[in-house]
Amino acid sequence: MSRHVIVTGASRGIGAAIAQHFVALGDQVVGLSRSGVAPAGCTDARAVDVADADAVGAAVKASVERLGPVDVMVVNAGVTRDGLALRMSDEQWREVLATDLDGAFYCARAVLPSMVRNRRGAIVFIGSVSPFMGVPGQANYAAAKAGLVGMARSLATEVASRSITVNVVAPGLIDTEMTTDLASREAMTARIPLGHAGTPSDIAGVVGFLAGNHARYITGAVIVVDGGLSLGH
Ligand code: NDP
Repeated sequence: MSRHVIVTGASRGIGAAIAQHFVALGDQVVGLSRSGVAPAGCTDARAVDVADADAVGAAVKASVERLGPVDVMVVNAGVTRDGLALRMSDEQWREVLATDLDGAFYCARAVLPSMVRNRRGAIVFIGSVSPFMGVPGQANYAAAKAGLVGMARSLATEVASRSITVNVVAPGLIDTEMTTDLASREAMTARIPLGHAGTPSDIAGVVGFLAGNHARYITGAVIVVDGGLSLGH
């Protein structure tokens, strides 16, 4: 059965790999990002800033009108604006919180009515191991990603009676544009027990599993996908 899947941040990196994963399964995939770009095979691509609640609501509404209830929502869009807290500007703090946490809430809230009516659905948030490890320069990012875990676990309890699952995938160091210029990249790679950074498809496979039938009894979970980077933290 072809599912209606929405992936935020589908224009590149992890989100693009996730969108491609579902396209390959024969699902109808809608990609949301500021640029409005989505991988080949997607049913629709829309330019949406996830920090804009009205824009998110309108995009999801249009998608439901066209493709029916949302089966899977992958909340992946995210940004980093690293800097030591002592010098972090309000803007750096707000931009990360607005995209990575506010935006995640707006996306989940927007798909819930159709999932609740349909008595089925899976929401997968892309978190990070950053809040579990304590990474210097990421007070804003770690706060947002830690917030996601609390939000997901609360949501999971609110919608479980409608057979909707809500989970978090927490990647470690993954090769994408986001990590190309990461100052601590080399040092971090040296600390990965499996010996190398992950690829976007390493994350896509786990997201695909969580959205599928084999994971229907998993909700409120945080699945760490980091090659062992956060072990011992
Ligand atoms: P990229 O920078 O490669 O891609 C980010 C994606 O998010 C792009 O598609 C971008 O599209 C979209 N995006 C950013 N801001 C917004 C916004 N306001 N509204 C809509 N879309 C937006 O990042 P990654 O693929 O590496 O990261 C994806 C997710 O995985 C993020 O949540 C990140 O925090 C998380 N993550 C990544 C890790 C890594 O090592 N790469 C590690 C742990 C977590 P556009 O510019 O077109 O808007």
